[in-house]
Amino acid sequence: MTERMQPMVEIEHVNKHYGELHVLKDITTTIDKGQVVVVLGPSGSGKSTLCRAINRLETIDDGSIKIDGTPLPSEGRELARLRADVGMVFQSFNLFAHKSILDNVTLGPMQVRKMKRKEAEERGMALLDRVGIANQANKMPAQLSGGQQQRVAIARSLAMQPKVMLFDEPTSALDPEMVNEVLDVMVGLAKEGMTMIVVTHEMGFAKKAADRVIFMAEGAVVEDTTPHEFFAAPKSARAQDFLSKIL
Ligand code: ADP
Ligand code: MG
Repeated sequence: MTERMQPMVEIEHVNKHYGELHVLKDITTTIDKGQVVVVLGPSGSGKSTLCRAINRLETIDDGSIKIDGTPLPSEGRELARLRADVGMVFQSFNLFAHKSILDNVTLGPMQVRKMKRKEAEERGMALLDRVGIANQANKMPAQLSGGQQQRVAIARSLAMQPKVMLFDEPTSALDPEMVNEVLDVMVGLAKEGMTMIVVTHEMGFAKKAADRVIFMAEGAVVEDTTPHEFFAAPKSARAQDFLSKIL
């Protein structure tokens, strides 16, 4: 493949503090269209804050973040539209508890993208089918297992036709037997060319699906390399220490 690289997420000199705590330290990195980046690092290293900054759930002190060439505004209608370009899946599935599975997937497109119900439902059913949940469309979230709910959460994000998908420890809250059904959906997305930023402790996913590994420690990017390089020969003492604890 010799497709020319086009930047999808451009992060330049981003800093953020929580009071005295310098939680993001001059982060600069570019994620190209179709790239799958796994973000690793010890707890508290700033991985979630970085994800939240990328879709402006958190403000940044300085620096800039562009999605597909457009800087994220700090507020307003434009922000809502641009935020819809960035899908986010969290550890907790955050489905609308009092809406059916299908409604969970159609509400966003109807409200934010102004899609007609019929089209939203057709597309929603196709997405539920893709994540293997189509036969549960009329159920309520609580009737589904954790793994099924997380797959619905992925379908719900995809329904907004995002340009990039962020996953923040999407399998950490799941019983072990449900982890793979969610990872399989993510691997499928990666193969289809979705641009993805994935915070996960699932090293199998990193090895199988990632083009790049970014290793963070104490708010900084310490390594940014291929999964092969990272796992075979981590350069920094911090990454070596991290890997010795999890592998
Ligand atoms: P990670 O996802 O890598 O575990 P986080 O981005 O959640 O790390 O947190 C990075 C640091 O910022 C931690 O020390 C955490 O305690 C702190 N932190 C996160 N959110 C807040 C907040 N809303 N207010 C104050 N400190 C926070
Ligand atoms: Mg986190």
